[in-house]
Amino acid sequence: MNLPQRVPLMIGGKWVESQTEQWLDVTNPANQEVLSRVPFATDDEVDTAIASAGKAFETWKNVPVPQRARLMLRYQQLLKEHHDELAEIICQELGKNFEDAKGDVWRGIEVVEYACNIASLMMGETVENVAGSIDTYSLIQPIGVCAGITPFNFPAMIPLWMFPLANACGNTFVLKPSEQDPLTAVRLLELYAEAGAPDGIVQLVHGGKACVNKLCSHPDIRAVSFVGSVAVGKHVYRTATQNLKRVQCMTGAKNHMVVMPDANRKQAVNNIIGAAFGAAGQRCMAISVVVLVGEARDMSADIVAAARDVSPGIWSDPKAAYGPQISAEAKTRILGLIAQGKEEGAECLLDGTDFRVDGYPDGNWIGPTVFGNVTAEMQIYREEVFGPVLCLLNAGSLEEAIALINDDFRANGTSIFTDSGAAARKFQNEVMVGQVGINIPIPVPLPFFSFTGWRGSFHGDQHPYGKQAVRFYTETKTVTARWFEGDIPTGPNMSITLK
Ligand code: NAD
Repeated sequence: MNLPQRVPLMIGGKWVESQTEQWLDVTNPANQEVLSRVPFATDDEVDTAIASAGKAFETWKNVPVPQRARLMLRYQQLLKEHHDELAEIICQELGKNFEDAKGDVWRGIEVVEYACNIASLMMGETVENVAGSIDTYSLIQPIGVCAGITPFNFPAMIPLWMFPLANACGNTFVLKPSEQDPLTAVRLLELYAEAGAPDGIVQLVHGGKACVNKLCSHPDIRAVSFVGSVAVGKHVYRTATQNLKRVQCMTGAKNHMVVMPDANRKQAVNNIIGAAFGAAGQRCMAISVVVLVGEARDMSADIVAAARDVSPGIWSDPKAAYGPQISAEAKTRILGLIAQGKEEGAECLLDGTDFRVDGYPDGNWIGPTVFGNVTAEMQIYREEVFGPVLCLLNAGSLEEAIALINDDFRANGTSIFTDSGAAARKFQNEVMVGQVGINIPIPVPLPFFSFTGWRGSFHGDQHPYGKQAVRFYTETKTVTARWFEGDIPTGPNMSITLK
């Protein structure tokens, strides 16, 4: 696998090296090997990227919809052919284990498959004879240049939530991936060009705050799609809406799983382990809190025993359940929260603080960590840890568990494990969270639905992928038309009614 020594920008269909003086190392989090260097693009470079997306829009918006769909068909085929290679890049720069990295790519491919159906998705509506010889019909049209700002934890899936659908709708795009793992995006766009994407329909820029602020405020950007932490998401939403952009911000989470006393215990424990520790807890839909209701509280020993069997390792080790944290800073932050949890009186039932992986002393490893007797006031509960740390809470009833979840300002995902249809139905009806799993721990919808986080986990109206994303990336134009046939009605119509 050849990784570029310097991560390039893609501007106007050409790969170019940034002229910036600000570069950051992209490292393998399992051993700190420097894989590449990523630029913080200059102001001029970002301006040029936006201008070139604007220029490409003038022709791309008129490319027939079936041709845009065929680009998606070729792209999904190429992504499948390069599935392992893309996963390997993710493994190198983010440390995910191979199967999980393949899942990251696959869930992106599914969105591209959805985009292949763009002609049907962009159909408008028609009503004939809304008044005498008058018809009304709607046209679904692209909006212009859109921007995407993505996080480190799904370097394939999340960019693929964005630019394929935006382009399929006839828009052009400026993508700014996470500066922590930008190499996957480079390969995604190389394959896109190979699939026949015309020059300029996607630009790739790199950077941090300054670059993001420009994308959120530049007058030629019509819409901004952001995925990342709560704090940055609020900033992006405020900045971009103040600059009158259409915005969708998918942000941080604290996802609870409720386990009822009648749940299948073995299934519940297995699902908790995968959902809490998979991807080193670096998933916005990770289960970081388990609420044991009533007699289910005695399951905590089983959960700890199962967690003890889980260990991280390098991506090429088939026994590694998950990989390292993305950075030494992330590891330090998580260790600080674990220490604080202990100080605040949570019972550390399993402590992964000192976990080591043989042969990889410099990796950002944290072993599975489980806290019992956690309360809603503790910082370990209140903050999104974004690491392999699970909090166990007890509740006396389902009502109490639902109230606890509804008290949290974040509302990305939640799940219930139970054998009772009545309990499950009450939960799905009363819980104020956007994605609910019933005996499913991570209920991320497939792309014919949308990813529907709520409240503090989402700002905007239209969610990513699915029909909502098509609405996000398009504008509706409604045409009311009459073709005169025979006598023209006499005199002006002085009322607002159609005649
Ligand atoms: P992050 O907020 O640090 O970074 C996200 C993006 O914002 C990156 O491209 C980064 O360069 C940029 N950025 C960082 N600091 C900035 C600043 N001060 N001003 C402007 N832009 C800035 O997030 P992350 O650590 O890369 O990703 C993890 C977070 O993303 C978690 O909170 C996770 O829950 C969330 N996430 C949410 C979803 C979802 O769909 N709701 C999906 C994946 C991840």
